[in-house]
Formats: sequence, structure tokens, C-alpha cells
Amino acid sequence: MPRDFGWGAGDLGMVRERKIGPNDEEDRDDQGLGSKGPGRADETIDDSDSDQADKPTTDKGLGLGSTRSENDAVLRPKRIDEMIGQREVMEVLKIAIDAANKREDPLGHILLDGPPGLGKTTFAVCIPQELGVHVEMASGPSLKAPKEILPYLTNLQRRSVLFIDEIHRLPKPVEEFLYTAMEDFRVDIVLGEGVNARTLNLKLQPFTLIGATTRAGMLSGPLRDRFHIRQHLSYYNEEDLVKILERNAEKLRVEISHDASIEIAKRSRGTPRVANGRLLWVRDYAMSKSDGRINKDLTKKALEMLGIDELGLDRQDRKYLETISRVFQGGPAGLEAIAHTMGVSSDTLEDEVEPFLLRSEMIIRTQRGRMITGIGLKIGNAKG
Ligand code: ADP
Repeated sequence: MPRDFGWGAGDLGMVRERKIGPNDEEDRDDQGLGSKGPGRADETIDDSDSDQADKPTTDKGLGLGSTRSENDAVLRPKRIDEMIGQREVMEVLKIAIDAANKREDPLGHILLDGPPGLGKTTFAVCIPQELGVHVEMASGPSLKAPKEILPYLTNLQRRSVLFIDEIHRLPKPVEEFLYTAMEDFRVDIVLGEGVNARTLNLKLQPFTLIGATTRAGMLSGPLRDRFHIRQHLSYYNEEDLVKILERNAEKLRVEISHDASIEIAKRSRGTPRVANGRLLWVRDYAMSKSDGRINKDLTKKALEMLGIDELGLDRQDRKYLETISRVFQGGPAGLEAIAHTMGVSSDTLEDEVEPFLLRSEMIIRTQRGRMITGIGLKIGNAKG
């Protein structure tokens, strides 16, 4: 049964007028990302809260002097072959892309999950390049009603890609509206009410949806099941981060010693975005305090100045451990209670702080709340 998604005929008229093909040059940004979506030329994709969705954000604890969008534009790989690490994910995607290209079919819908900064958006930028198609970029929290996603859908051409970041934050009606679009490449729109209601059946071009989420567990079963390929991105090892750092130092035209790259990689919590932010800070530090060349000694000083320790934990990470240890006597403590005590949002803790601490076995999650482990206790008790 088609659902009434609350359209007026006027809404639909407006939407149709705004239909812009992804081939239109003026609708594409200058990074070869394709169109950023109808009427959203100034939208910045990021994983911050929705009310900040169109402000460029600063890298966590680092981006002194450089915003994330600036960094991303320069450093983000443009082709899958330029991407480093995530070998298993890469292999799966390469086969799927190759087969889709040979059949000249659209690629199946892809869901990427994993903590922020591991490359979900980068894959979403590189995959369309391999398919030779454009991508429309959207973000879950900014699509507040089905009528807001309709222009994205109608703009898609055969085989092109729609990327929805933070797809777990799509409102339920928008999510349900996507079901038929994903499955049958059509949407049903009910216009009017009562006896005057009529259903408009809109056919869409066969397209690929790439969804990114930091919380795979929050996705509903019906949405998750509609993705043909589901891949989890995991943290990068030190070797891969060193390769990323050395390649990016070249892009930034800065000289960096191998042991300095290792030092930054060690202190980057397995995350390329963090590594990039730290590289940019060390570059600025080297420029200001020395001749611009980055060595290990200088790297240590630069990162210590920001309170980044040898494990890559920053002040917020340590404050989190200290809060559970001191205020909650090691736990178990509820996420909201910890967030309130620290004065930060529980989303920030859950997305940005906890995943690495969990992986490093500094905390554990139990049904009664978060608990600190012996490893975490040493750090939580050592410094605030
Ligand atoms: P996410 O969407 O998962 O939050 P992004 O794709 O925005 O993360 O990645 C953040 C930055 O990290 C990118 O701008 C890019 O420079 C870098 N990056 C991510 N993955 C890789 C990779 N596999 N190889 C090289 N750089 C990467």
C-alpha cells in the first residue's frame, strides 16, 4: 500500500522544477565529486550534529588552523587504487564494481559501517569514479521528510550513485520512502486526502545507494536487508597509517622523516582522519618553530603540546577514563551520566571516544553500563 507522505501538489511541482541532471557542470563541485544534491551546493558532508551540518568542522582536538573540509579536499584519495588498507573491503568492492561494469548494470546497494574517519565517505567518492558515474551526496539528519529526498532520487541517472552519510539518522518516513526506491527503482506518492487522494507512481533510474553509518546496530532490519553488500571498516594498522602519512606529506610538499611518520601513526588511534589532522598540526608546528622539516623529536613536542599521549589518547579520552575511574569508582556507569558529568554529548562519546577505548580494552560495555578495565585504570588514575 502506498503511504501518504504528506505532499501537497505544490510541493511536487517545486521539486520537479528543481530537477538538475548530475551531468550539468555547474552542479558539480570542483573535486570531481559529482553533484552535491539539488539546491545544496553549500552543503558539507560531515559527521557532526545535524544543526552543524553545513559548517565545516574542525578535526577533533587538532585542526588548529585547518578545517576538515579543507583537509579532506586536498588529502582524500580520488580513486580506489589510491586508497590504502581495508584490503578485505577493497577486494569485495573491486569484484562487485568489475562485475557491474562488465554487465553494464548498476552496482548493488552498499552499506559501510565503522567509526568516524575510517574512509566511508572516501569509498563513496572513489566507487563512482570506478563506475564512471556521478554521485549525489546527502546526509541522513538533513533529509527531514520524504519530499526532501525526492529531488536526489529524481536527479539520479542510470547507474549513478546516491550517498547518504549517517543513514541511521534518517527519519522513519524517509527511510520507508526509500524502500521501494531501493528495491524496485520507483516511489509512490499519495497526493491529496480522503476521496480526492490519488497515487502518483514515479519511476526512477536504476541507481546505487551507498549508505554510511557509525552505528550499524541502529539501522532497522528492513533497511539493512535492502543493501546487497555490507562491509565493516576497521581501524588501520600502524604500517598502513605510515603509508597514508608519507603519501599525504608528499601531497602537502612537506619533508618528513620515516620515524616521524611512525610517531604520528602510533598516536593516531588507527584512524586516517586523525592521522591527517595530526600531520597538519605537526607541519604547522615545524614551520613555526623550525625550518618546516618534520623530524621525530619535533613531532613528539608538537603532539605533546596538544596533550596527545603515546597511545594517541587526547585530553577528552583521558578525561573520559578519569571520570569513570574517579567519579563512578570504575563503573558500571551509564553513558548519559558520564556525558553529563563531562559536559559533552553522549553521541560524541559513543561515536568518537568509546570505539577506540573499547578496541584497546580500556573499557568494556556491560548491560549495566560502562566499566573501566585494568589497562584503562592505569591511564584514568595517572592523569586527568
Ligand atoms: P568517514 O566517512 O568514515 O568518517 P572519511 O572517508 O571522510 O571518513 O575519511 C577521512 C579522511 O581520511 C579522508 O579525507 C582521507 O584523507 C583519509 N582516508 C580515509 N580512508 C583512507 C584510505 N583508505 N587511504 C587513504 N586515506 C584515507
